[in-house]
Amino acid sequence: MPMPEKIILSIALPIPVDRLFDYLPPSTLNIEQLSPGMRVRVPFGKSSKIGILIEIKNSSESPLDKLKHAEEILDSSALLLENDLKLLHWAHRYYHHPIGDVFTSALPTALRKGKPSTLKITPHFQLSALGNDFDPQLFKNAHKQRALFELIAKQKKPLSQKEISSHFKLWQDSLKALLKKELIQSCNAPTQNTAPLQKQEPLLANTEQQIAIDHIIKNKSHFSVSLLDGVTGSGKTEVYLQSIQAILDNGKQVLVLLPEITLTPQLESRFNARFSTKIETFHSKHTETQRLHAWLNMQQSKSLILLGTRSALLTPCPNLGLIILDEEHDSSFKQQEGFRFSARDVAIVRAKMLDIPIILGSATPSLESLYNVQQNRYTRLTLLQRAGSATPPSLALLDIRNQYLQEGLSPTLIKMIKNTLAKNEQVLLFLNRRGFSPTLICHSCGWTAQCKRCDANLVVHYQQQKLRCHHCTSEQFLNKTCPDCQSDELKPLGLGTERVEYALNSLFPQKRVVRLDRDSTQRKGVLEDHLSAINAGHVDIILGTQMLAKGHHFPNVTLVALLDVDSGLFSIDFHAAEKLAQLIIQVAGRAGRENKKGHVVMQTRQPEHPLLNTLIQQGYSHFAQAALAERKEAQLPPYTYQALLRATAVHPQLALDFLSEVSLTISKQAFNTLLLGPVPAPMQKRAGQFRYQLLLQNEQRKSLHILLNAIVPVISKLKLARKVKWSLDVDPIDLY
Ligand code: ADP
Ligand code: ZN
Ligand code: ZN
Repeated sequence: MPMPEKIILSIALPIPVDRLFDYLPPSTLNIEQLSPGMRVRVPFGKSSKIGILIEIKNSSESPLDKLKHAEEILDSSALLLENDLKLLHWAHRYYHHPIGDVFTSALPTALRKGKPSTLKITPHFQLSALGNDFDPQLFKNAHKQRALFELIAKQKKPLSQKEISSHFKLWQDSLKALLKKELIQSCNAPTQNTAPLQKQEPLLANTEQQIAIDHIIKNKSHFSVSLLDGVTGSGKTEVYLQSIQAILDNGKQVLVLLPEITLTPQLESRFNARFSTKIETFHSKHTETQRLHAWLNMQQSKSLILLGTRSALLTPCPNLGLIILDEEHDSSFKQQEGFRFSARDVAIVRAKMLDIPIILGSATPSLESLYNVQQNRYTRLTLLQRAGSATPPSLALLDIRNQYLQEGLSPTLIKMIKNTLAKNEQVLLFLNRRGFSPTLICHSCGWTAQCKRCDANLVVHYQQQKLRCHHCTSEQFLNKTCPDCQSDELKPLGLGTERVEYALNSLFPQKRVVRLDRDSTQRKGVLEDHLSAINAGHVDIILGTQMLAKGHHFPNVTLVALLDVDSGLFSIDFHAAEKLAQLIIQVAGRAGRENKKGHVVMQTRQPEHPLLNTLIQQGYSHFAQAALAERKEAQLPPYTYQALLRATAVHPQLALDFLSEVSLTISKQAFNTLLLGPVPAPMQKRAGQFRYQLLLQNEQRKSLHILLNAIVPVISKLKLARKVKWSLDVDPIDLY
């Protein structure tokens, strides 16, 4: 008699080991019910873990009698579908990151913790057939019942209990009475599976927009990458909206990725005005349950549009028809810890696997994307004009050498601010440093406040009377006297946004100043309140960090000033010039976005600097071409491919020895890969750990990955690998 075939479940578990784990199915389970992509609870060590079923197979490399039974299957159908699994397998191979971590990162936290994957149905109420023919006069003295009945009758869609509560207090008894009289009935929430009707009419696209829209719509049923290269204020959103409409008309889903949570409310309201279908949003400021619902609504095709940040990228959308990545140049699309993926690159692979279009939008496209245009891999769609009646802002350098600065503000700038405010227009000031001052120095002996755990100064936070490290969690009270010489001559050195805020308040006491940075917007809702105050004209001066650089539309801002562009000019990372140019153009783009002309000034002590001059005189496109030529000359990405191995340890020698051993291993087998290092990271000590790095570079992407495939398993088995923390960053975007 043939033995019944063994069934073995291969499972991805959320642990930093790059392998799958084999289990036997739960003893009570009908095998027919199993499919890859379901969650499984399995015994692991002394406790249990939730993993994802990857494969059902008939054999295992482990001895069968050693295999344990899985405890429980948590889902009745697969959460991750075939295409999702395929994409995750690709991402695992490409980023060489532990498989379990890659797969579980596709699930929202609630599902990782084992919460049910079913949507709770909230009962809704509508009139019954009987109710439809009922004359409310017949309620006589039952006023409450009548009022509730009329409220429900008035609605075009079924009402939830929550919606009823917003109109009435103490309605439960009346509701029960109406149900008992069979005048109303309970039903499910209204569904929106059909292609939605448009609400607000589309704008009349200008010629450039129309060319872009036509191109995207013409290519909507197959894979193509469109780089929508549109100057700030050129109406990229309108191109997105009209392209999305064409996809919705086909009943398909759309995934829109944004760099920042702060941009979602603004875009969400523009989407809501245009589309009558429900817009799902997914980002880290939502609660776990909100994220779970958005995820499941997309996964079950109940919703058609998902707006989210990087973390929304892997949300299953069985019917996906278009991906849009707005502000594609933004570095927040790259995850900088754990599973270090680029949401832009994975999104492109996702579109390719699904054979659907993807749009990358930016006023300052990344050098990678421009290079891909040169290589004819992407189509560049340009919007050179601002939409509507807006004109491009003027850009100028403000030489501040030998100028008397009042907390970083030159006399010329102060005059410009005054003139702008006198016209009742808004001013935006940009300084990419939060806190009061970046340094606290003793005027008598030269002591400076340093972080004990990092190679960094402590930053003065005056309002809170604290000294804080911006690289770890260290903080302490603001000293009153110098710990070295006991002098009380401690001086804050340098500028932060908090300090400029004080200066502005004393220079312009009648004016309202709002500071937007990570410190001032920590509490939930504060940023939204500030943004709506700005748009309602209740703010005169907006001061902030790079938070301001991202896509905001402030119609009444006509003067933008960058207080200190010089600090970005001298970095050892070859990405720095590109990032600085993007930042300058993006901040500048907040000026004059409607019918009033905008002016941008940059305070600098380097008025001859070629980067600043190219940008101002010739624009971003020229800068980018020049920067690409430099990269080619220096054989740097995108002309070559890099991977960065980082190692940290409490004892510097361990990290260094580990990377030296890795370097030796590699050089034995990879003659065509350039090895740079190991060297200390630019900030060598951080949060008590010493950091070293080894850069790998190859002219061929493929060769680099063949090498990584070969060495990653070897590296993980090195003895020293257990004594350090190490990570691999494929296509690193900063070398820190
Ligand atoms: P971008 O994202 O390219 O910086 P936006 O999409 O925010 O620009 O558009 C800038 C402004 O131009 C918005 O107020 C928008 O409503 C307006 N706009 C866009 N397209 C048109 C158009 N075709 N006609 C009139 N106004 C437009
Ligand atoms: Zn001192
Ligand atoms: Zn620190």
